Amino acid sequence: MKRNYIAFALMVLMLVLSLQTMQARHHTVVISLDGFRWDYTQWYDTPFLDLLAERGVSSALIPSYPSKTFPNHYTLATGLYPDHHGIVANVFLDTSTGLSFSLGDTTQKLNPTYYGGEPIWNTAKKQGLRTAVFYWPGSDVCVGGSYPDVYYVYDQKPRLTFQERLDGVIAQLQLPDDKRPDLIMAYMEEPDGSGHNNGPHHKTTRRTIESLDSMLMAFYNRLQQLPNAADINLLMVSDHGMTWVAEGNNVCFAERLKPEWVIKVEGNLPAQIYTREGCADSVYQALQGLPHCRVWRKGEIPERLHYGTNSRVGDIVVDPDLGFYVQDKRAAEGGAHGFDPAMSDMHAMFRAVGPDFKHIEMPHFPNVDLYPLLCRILGIKPAACDGNINEVKAMLKEN
Ligand code: AMP
Ligand code: ZN
Ligand code: ZN
Repeated sequence: MKRNYIAFALMVLMLVLSLQTMQARHHTVVISLDGFRWDYTQWYDTPFLDLLAERGVSSALIPSYPSKTFPNHYTLATGLYPDHHGIVANVFLDTSTGLSFSLGDTTQKLNPTYYGGEPIWNTAKKQGLRTAVFYWPGSDVCVGGSYPDVYYVYDQKPRLTFQERLDGVIAQLQLPDDKRPDLIMAYMEEPDGSGHNNGPHHKTTRRTIESLDSMLMAFYNRLQQLPNAADINLLMVSDHGMTWVAEGNNVCFAERLKPEWVIKVEGNLPAQIYTREGCADSVYQALQGLPHCRVWRKGEIPERLHYGTNSRVGDIVVDPDLGFYVQDKRAAEGGAHGFDPAMSDMHAMFRAVGPDFKHIEMPHFPNVDLYPLLCRILGIKPAACDGNINEVKAMLKEN
């Protein structure tokens, strides 16, 4: 009798333990819509993103400086400021090699030496989790000797369409338990493209955003039909916002500089000037009084921007006012980003729903906090980073 009782108690204990483990296996999907301004949902018809706000967390992300695509997607993945992870701009000079990193140069872009820190897919893999990543910047690079379990090479054509990426996410979520990734990430190039071509306030940008939103609503409906739908967290994020640049809004500076002072100028928003030894002061002095911008020595960039300690940052950084480029070529009108993250035009959309999230509206938060947030819901230990879980844990059910 006593033996039966002990056996029964053991069975109950095992059942409780296995139920607990089953509950702990949540799957997390993160989708980034490039250049999705935080307030597009107020201007345009976005029932999907509104539904997520009604059911879960609505907030906005403050990008890291400079508010460009590669630095910020890699910040979202690592929790490090661009100055600390090394992808300091979309285009920059590595003075130690004399080579320039740029999105259009596949050899440089796929060179792991540029990519510091530990992207979330590596943190997850090291701790025994599975990951699948569709085109997130950095995910097709062998960072730290490793790739996500499933990844796609951005430069391999034809590239998957947005619909194929979303179908791919659903297919990953339908895999058997031992193959199903704990973390799935997907990147979409829009509405950044439309925002650049037409500006944020334009009917074509509206159409792009509204059709993306309805594609995502259909995706969410499919996701909710899955047998394990209740265990899936879905986060919608973006890297930066978008603002309008009027024709001719460019700051010319080349005529102020002597060619022998400068090794190279990279980018126009901000412009990074790499100077020859002993010439930084001459460049700095020559640019004093330049209208519509700030001129910084790399060591004197405002602390709040966390920028300027990396050897890949220009010796002089020229940061334009909202709505201007730093270039000699006459500016064409259109949308742009890269400006000071303090500007609300640069802030990016954030939504989250699922078993780990409360229904709450949160103030804007720095995008370095996404990495520790993802680590917390995945139940893994984050690598050292600039983010702080305490800033965002109020959105979690169990914080
Ligand atoms: P931005 O210049 O900051 O607006 O960058 C946005 C552009 O980055 C988009 O048009 C994408 O085509 C491009 N992009 C995104 N991911 C990658 C990648 N892995 N390799 C090259 N370009 C990319
Ligand atoms: Zn972008
Ligand atoms: Zn862009």
